[in-house]
Amino acid sequence: MEKDMTKIEKLVVWFTENRNMLFLSVCMAIHVIYLCIFYALAVWPLVLLNIFSSIFYFTYLFLKKDTSESSMAATYFEILLFSVLSEFALGPEYGFVLYIVGMTAAVFYLVPSYGNKRFQYQIIGIITALILESIIMIGHVRFPEIQEPVAPYQPIFYLVNLAIMAGIVLAATFFYSKETEKVWDTLRYNMNHDVLTGLYNRRFFEQQISQISENKRKPYVISMVDIDFFKKVNDTYGHEAGDIVLAKVSACLMNLAGKENLAVRWGGEEFILYFPKKTPEEVYDMMEGLRKQIEQMAIQADQKTIRVTITSGIGIGLAESNYEKVINSADEKLYLGKQRGRNQVVI
Ligand code: GH3
Ligand code: MG
Ligand code: MG
Repeated sequence: MEKDMTKIEKLVVWFTENRNMLFLSVCMAIHVIYLCIFYALAVWPLVLLNIFSSIFYFTYLFLKKDTSESSMAATYFEILLFSVLSEFALGPEYGFVLYIVGMTAAVFYLVPSYGNKRFQYQIIGIITALILESIIMIGHVRFPEIQEPVAPYQPIFYLVNLAIMAGIVLAATFFYSKETEKVWDTLRYNMNHDVLTGLYNRRFFEQQISQISENKRKPYVISMVDIDFFKKVNDTYGHEAGDIVLAKVSACLMNLAGKENLAVRWGGEEFILYFPKKTPEEVYDMMEGLRKQIEQMAIQADQKTIRVTITSGIGIGLAESNYEKVINSADEKLYLGKQRGRNQVVI
């Protein structure tokens, strides 16, 4: 799977795997830059605040080397504290409160396994922002000695803060949706496939075939396949070796089915091949080919060579045929093949 990834997908995986480290680095960089700016403007309370914040990130990144989710949770509250103090010191025109608002969204991506706690973090953030703005705006809190040196640059501060937070929200939602997509893909795959063999499972097949029947099915062919004397394989070589045999036989079935047909693990060591566009004669030839291929195959398991054969029965479905009946008919043919000595295809 890794081989098929595009450069962008690889980049997404890299970002996702290193997201905490990246986030801590971005935060530290922002604080170091602010530290320099406020130092240049000689706004000492904010220099002090940014020294504290820079040390916080430096500790997590380089001393504790902790980029776990709990460090992300701590970061959330650091950002809250930083925003409250900056907003309080400079006033609402500089947009430091945007960091709180943005983080209430980003927290969902940064601490994914915190479940309901993330909602509590959000509520704490939102209430903090509301109380903070109320105090500043209604109380007309102003610190002229801090605000004066910074005032000429106010629009730049606001725009930069807005851009940083918008960027973080955008990145968090982008990677969050990429991750959920991946989870959905895995879920969908596991829902439709058999874990051991990688073939489609029974549930998927039944769902597919009943859907096709709703859309007016065309004549089709179903072949039922059963490994001969498989119990003996388990008894002689062990269950694990039996699993290897199942996987090898399944690989042959999957290969035969290709993209046009479906190969399904029906149960235990029984399989179904569904051919929506082939004639019974074509299927018979294909099954004969498969039978010979498996007969000649030497399967290596547990440093032993195992040989197995298969028997298969072919059921013919007309457009209006109920698929369960076709499967039953394939099963009857299979049973006939077993009675006649196995290792054969019966049509
Ligand atoms: P026949 O030729 O009549 O089909 O004989 P058989 O021994 O193949 O048939 P039977 O139905 O008696 O035995 C099937 C065996 O398949 C029994 C069961 O333990 C084994 N089996 C089912 N699922 C698995 C599995 O996932 N892994 C392994 N190793 N064995 C399995
Ligand atoms: Mg069997
Ligand atoms: Mg069986």
